[in-house]
Amino acid sequence: MPQYKAPLRDMRFQLNEVFDYAGHYASLSNGGDATPDMVDAILEGCATLCEEVLAPLYATGDHEGCSITDGVVTTPKGYKEAYAQYVAGGWQGLSHPQEYGGQGLPMSLNLLKSEMMGTANWPFTMYPGLSLGCMNTVFQFGNTEQKNLYMPPLVSGEWTGTMCLTEPQCGTDLAQIRTKAEPQADGTYKLYGTKIYISSGEHDLAENIIHIVLARLPDAPKGTRGISLFIVPKFMVNADRSLGERNSVKAGALEHKMGIRASATCVMNFDGATGFMISEQNKGLEAMFTFMNTARIGTALQGVAHAELSYQGAVPYAKDRRSMRALTGKKDTDHPNDALIWHADVRRMLLTQRAVAEGGRAMIYHAAKLADHMVASLAEGDNAKYAEYDDRLGFYTPILKGFLTELGLECANLGMQVFGGHGYVKDYGMEQIARDARISTLYEGTTGIQALDLLGRKVLLQSRGKVVFGFTGEMIDQAKPYLLDGGPLGKMARTAFKRAIQWKVLTVRLMLRAKKDRDVVGAASYDFLMYAGYMMMGHFWLKQAIVASKALSSGKGAESKEFYTAKGQTAEFFFERLLPRADGHKATMLSPTSSIMQMNNDHFTFQ
Ligand SMILES: Cc1cc2nc3c(=O)[nH]c(=O)nc-3n(C[C@H](O)[C@H](O)[C@H](O)COP(=O)(O)OP(=O)(O)OC[C@H]3O[C@@H](n4cnc5c(N)ncnc54)[C@H](O)[C@@H]3O)c2cc1C
Repeated sequence: MPQYKAPLRDMRFQLNEVFDYAGHYASLSNGGDATPDMVDAILEGCATLCEEVLAPLYATGDHEGCSITDGVVTTPKGYKEAYAQYVAGGWQGLSHPQEYGGQGLPMSLNLLKSEMMGTANWPFTMYPGLSLGCMNTVFQFGNTEQKNLYMPPLVSGEWTGTMCLTEPQCGTDLAQIRTKAEPQADGTYKLYGTKIYISSGEHDLAENIIHIVLARLPDAPKGTRGISLFIVPKFMVNADRSLGERNSVKAGALEHKMGIRASATCVMNFDGATGFMISEQNKGLEAMFTFMNTARIGTALQGVAHAELSYQGAVPYAKDRRSMRALTGKKDTDHPNDALIWHADVRRMLLTQRAVAEGGRAMIYHAAKLADHMVASLAEGDNAKYAEYDDRLGFYTPILKGFLTELGLECANLGMQVFGGHGYVKDYGMEQIARDARISTLYEGTTGIQALDLLGRKVLLQSRGKVVFGFTGEMIDQAKPYLLDGGPLGKMARTAFKRAIQWKVLTVRLMLRAKKDRDVVGAASYDFLMYAGYMMMGHFWLKQAIVASKALSSGKGAESKEFYTAKGQTAEFFFERLLPRADGHKATMLSPTSSIMQMNNDHFTFQ
């Protein structure tokens, strides 16, 4: 089994040396308490929780899974105790307002926490993870009474929350939602309907569960403009927050899943359940998607998590297992054969995992700074600044979610591949990572939907390419000072510079084509998303390489010479072995749409 060890050296390198988080926190209105000592204590404390409490439950939780009897869901052995420890440590309220019992720290610290927890045990992390969406919704859209009633126990973690959107007939196209909310004389609503695939819909970790539910009023307009948002507690809550009677919302079944088996994914039946409207009538979908960017970045973390964990599993195996001799002659001369790690193809797989884990981490740490500004502006009541940061984050979100989860899945598969046949059997735990990674490209908006959001909405419709031009400008600015450098750094900088220009031109070409043929957007979107991901990861690999190179030449970095050398080498690997994949995506997205659209629907099968 991979023995999770929090990658604190890389996390600190990125936080302190690459992204100057100390300066960033000092610039935030809510960052005063996030001193370097505090950040370090959080990293250390969270690493201990993850390594000692959560990681040991990863495989056993998968083996046992969740069970359901008469609507009561039992989580695997050890989950209840681990969750209690998580709550007792005050981890849930790290970035939530102090007025509700949280610690009020910047939201990026919560992402650092989630990265470690999610890598140690993603299925466990989904229980507190879904609560974040629920808390954010209640915090932003609840009235004072609702906030006072529900926020404190959600922030402490005593209660958990869910997001109930999906129904049997729709997950992506929420305009088709049918769950009904009937107004009652006392101002409450009775909800009727079935939601499926609800993560943490029912479990035994917390004494109450607060569901955030999308439903329609009887006279609501059709489509997305007729959807409202409701709070539906599992147990009704009295004014003093004591629990009242059981509400008529029950788990009808648990989904039988390929992976994340320890995460309870429930069919939830609302059978006249009492609900309370939150936000404005018929504006529920808008409200639900307010914190979409941060929720999606939370899921993008899953790509980094699975790349990291499968890498941590694969490296010791590749050093230990022996097979034949290296092509360049004997390496481990005291053995009759060489370790796998000497073989170029095995190194390709390991370095791909590493480049994705560390490159993805950099992408997320950059976006997390924008998220911090966004949340701080909200707390300051500066709506214009909030909207500006939300917009900026909106460009990164589909790339992070779509690209990183696709690559995380690839890396989980590579982890199995390094183990050969031993990767496919359960004994080593590598196949679990691949099964668990599979969901990440599906929920919280499929890769296809992220791609449409990126190219169709953010790039073409909303900004006419400006968001890309803004980012390529940053790529050029970063690369420029190193263009004449004679070493690997110069080579990478020149590549980044040329790629930035290529991406701009490509965007303009797509814009022109899309004007003539609407299918261009749908046909090109996936390739555009992946292309954008490689460009962005390249930008952040160059950033890391620059810092590592300066630290090596000045001898003043906080890390060892070996660490910085390996950083530069991983960056080179990315530029030479992964970035060229972008060329395939470029060629594909510029191909005529006819090869996708021309076939008659009846001709997809001949029987
Ligand atoms: C384990 C698990 C946990 C989940 N947790 C939750 C949860 O907590 N709460 C919740 O509400 N939901 C949850 N979901 C549901 C999840 O978010 C949906 O499954 C997902 O949004 C996709 O919706 P769908 O399954 O209806 O697929 P569909 O919407 O039917 O899509 C099917 C395929 O068609 C593509 N497609 C759809 N529309 C378009 C279009 N317009 N253009 C191009 N391609 C399109 C999609 O990309 C996809 O490939 C969960 C699902 C799973 C499996």
